[in-house]
Amino acid sequence: MMIPNRKEYLKALANSGQKIMGVLPALYPRELLWAFDIHAAEIWDPPGEILHANAHLQTTICPIVKRSLEFILKEPDIINAGYLFPHTCDSLQNLGTQVKDLIGVSLPVYTFYNPKGSFNNTTTRYYRDILQNFQLSMEAVYGPLAPDKFLAACVLSHKIDSHLMAIQQARMTDHLSLNNAEYFKLMRAQEYLLPTDYLSLLEQVDILDQPGESPRARMMVSGILPPTPEILEFLDELGVSIVADDLLAGSRRIPKFPMDAPVSPLDYLTDRFFILPPCSTRGGDLDERLHHLSKHMNASQAQGILFDIVKFCEPELFDHRLLVKTLRGKNYPVLTLETELENHISGQDKTRIEAFTELLFEMVSP
Ligand code: SF4
Repeated sequence: MMIPNRKEYLKALANSGQKIMGVLPALYPRELLWAFDIHAAEIWDPPGEILHANAHLQTTICPIVKRSLEFILKEPDIINAGYLFPHTCDSLQNLGTQVKDLIGVSLPVYTFYNPKGSFNNTTTRYYRDILQNFQLSMEAVYGPLAPDKFLAACVLSHKIDSHLMAIQQARMTDHLSLNNAEYFKLMRAQEYLLPTDYLSLLEQVDILDQPGESPRARMMVSGILPPTPEILEFLDELGVSIVADDLLAGSRRIPKFPMDAPVSPLDYLTDRFFILPPCSTRGGDLDERLHHLSKHMNASQAQGILFDIVKFCEPELFDHRLLVKTLRGKNYPVLTLETELENHISGQDKTRIEAFTELLFEMVSP
């Protein structure tokens, strides 16, 4: 399975005249952008040295915000339709304001204020309103939205979700012959591939009829982004498989259960938003998150959980202490790492990962 390189792929798209919007993490109505023929290129952790962003940010800002601002300040020529800042956390909201009003970029800056909290009449009405407002702001630039294109975009999104759900289930039950690094590369390709290309890629994924060989140990991972490729490869070397995830860039963006095929785009998108798994960035009930984590630990037979916390990530840190305490109380082994998205593993982290996996191995063969 060949997955195109992110930079080369986006460059080629921009050169072909494709409209591309840079989208910050994490939840936004991608289907509306697709319906306007705008490609969403998500900006999570662009590589490269931080040279200029620090001058605009406090020192206690997470590396995702720092890297994103550094990327934006370079005015990359692949982004030609503007930037979209969803309200994921205060840091991203502030960054959106800064980029729009203080730093200034030559492209339009849009915001999308996701509701916090759970499903009720007020939040659903609010969500429909912001969808319609976002549609209006796009129409002001690109002309009236074509209803058939909007519906087709939702149908495409529904197909992608269905494949992702099947792949996720296959991962949990050893019906997927991908190692950790390959699996998360596939998951993250949705951040930059055209939806039709991503769907074709998902259609090529081989889901085995019979379960493959069981890994030496099984782990769940929770956080914002998957562990860095270096950590994933290290886990592969150790024989540990990440069989389930609770990641904002991963399963927290896939509905908890299958939906009917879309008929009305606005209804579909509203329903979809409120059946996403619980997430620290949307507030809500911590018991619901605990229940969700335990359910996935059991379904995937994960023996332990790795919290890979992005440094200075307030939403994640807010939930983390109680999650760890409760999971440990249920006798789940827990390891917490802090990441600045560096492209190497420190000796200390290596030692901690090795010690943790030894513990998981002992649980498999007491
Ligand atoms: S890592 Fe946390 S603080 Fe940083 S952008 Fe993501 S949610 Fe916000």
